[in-house]
Amino acid sequence: MKRLTQYIAALTLACALAGMLLSLTLASGAQLRGALSQALVFTALAGFVVGVGLRGGRERAEAVGAARGAAVSQGARKSCGFGDVAANDEALQSMRELTDYLKRPEKYRRYGARMPAGVLLYGPPGTGKTLMARALAGEAGVPFFALSGSDFVEKYVGVGASRVRELFKKARKAGKCVIFIDEIDALGKRRDENSSDERDQTLNALLSEMSGFYTGDGVIVVAATNRIDALDPALLRPGRFDRQIEVGLPGRAQRLSILKLHSRNKPLADEACLEELAAQTVSLSGASLENLLNEAALAAAIRDDGGIRRRDLQAAFYKTLAGADRPMTATAEERRSIAIHEAGHALAGRLLSPENRLARVSILPAGHGAAGYNLCIPAERVMVGKGQMENQICVLLAGRAAEQVALGEDALTAGASSDLARATELAAAMVNELGMAGEPAVSLKALQRSCGGASGAAEACRKLLSAQYARVTRLLSEHAAALKALAEALMAAESLEGDEAARIIDANLSHERPESA
Ligand code: ADP
Ligand code: ZN
Repeated sequence: MKRLTQYIAALTLACALAGMLLSLTLASGAQLRGALSQALVFTALAGFVVGVGLRGGRERAEAVGAARGAAVSQGARKSCGFGDVAANDEALQSMRELTDYLKRPEKYRRYGARMPAGVLLYGPPGTGKTLMARALAGEAGVPFFALSGSDFVEKYVGVGASRVRELFKKARKAGKCVIFIDEIDALGKRRDENSSDERDQTLNALLSEMSGFYTGDGVIVVAATNRIDALDPALLRPGRFDRQIEVGLPGRAQRLSILKLHSRNKPLADEACLEELAAQTVSLSGASLENLLNEAALAAAIRDDGGIRRRDLQAAFYKTLAGADRPMTATAEERRSIAIHEAGHALAGRLLSPENRLARVSILPAGHGAAGYNLCIPAERVMVGKGQMENQICVLLAGRAAEQVALGEDALTAGASSDLARATELAAAMVNELGMAGEPAVSLKALQRSCGGASGAAEACRKLLSAQYARVTRLLSEHAAALKALAEALMAAESLEGDEAARIIDANLSHERPESA
């Protein structure tokens, strides 16, 4: 199980790396990875609003962790149910079973069946894990206690552990209920030589509280994490989080159902096509999709002519991924180098991985300190191959290569820093984990772990990156006319739709000798 999880984690890493949507040119030296995940995390947080307004009946507001008011029950928010969740079929099925159990425990007792003490939902942020836990409580009509793992992490030894005990005491008093622990990795990290006394005690308290649930008192613990590999194995043993369900990013059909769900109360114009949007929004989470629709609705409300139009959806799509366009402040010379850099990415992408459709190229400053960006819609696939990963490295390095080809060595800019970092990470994954750099049968990472010793990984990485850099530099030199034409069009228009950029590229490709792929 663990091996499988690690295997999947590695593949996901590879796919995530290869399926990158955005290539931003940062004005500062800031790291893109941080910036990009920040964007996703941010939208996920934005979706997690704790509203006010108590409702009567069984729903009560509770506060555990008195000093910090760490827990909030569903009473503090409009109750929700399974109808508020789209996609996530496997996790929902489990939630339905748990609801049935909470409603009719005697049925399960009759069969001698024991429900899982804990359900662990794992997957990227914003995929509806909190939402489903909330829906479980809502459908079963039981109180909902929500906390984040980081609420338990304290400097003083014993505080976290006592918070855990306090929480479970409250929960038991409530009778049947759902406890939701978000970011459980914050308190349940794998114990090693770096772990602290405080964290160990907190984790032990959680483990022993959960072991006390065998009798089935109707307290169900749902936890969420996006790093199942980092969790202490003790948490995953029977009697603890013995049911583990992956909640992945939605595929195309699932995105459509999420978009449909969240546009129920939004007046979409006839020309606004959710199918098109679902096809474009590869690798966006449910939270990002919800956020995107809200952005479009806001724009339409400001215009106030009755409906949300296609262009509202498109603008919101760009804004969600790259941030809003900001006014151009660069000097003419800077504009030129940004345009060359972006044109390099676009041209290499068109030639090497045309299956990843270019949606927009822009040299307008955008979010995350970006000086310009290429927005690509990656082809949806379950597996990536060596050739595709090499091409992806080329596309990432193409901005820098274009600077060198068109402007010369002295004109290199700091804007390529995140491209280089990402290309290097991708190369490192190929070298270390995927056996894609000369030794197809060896995982250097596992070798290092099992046998120790020098692996030569850094050298192999360098070699791979230089080879791909040389390859993409050749390609761009060969098609220098297309590079120049696209950069000029970008300087004039500041941003181009993908189709327009593709047309300019195709019209200026060199046909002198066959493409050196
Ligand atoms: P997570 O806990 O996985 O980070 P959340 O449950 O907090 O994600 O999701 C945030 C918001 O995103 C939800 O409140 C909901 O509006 C939207 N959302 C995410 N996934 C889905 C989904 N599968 N169906 C409907 N809405 C979703
Ligand atoms: Zn770049």
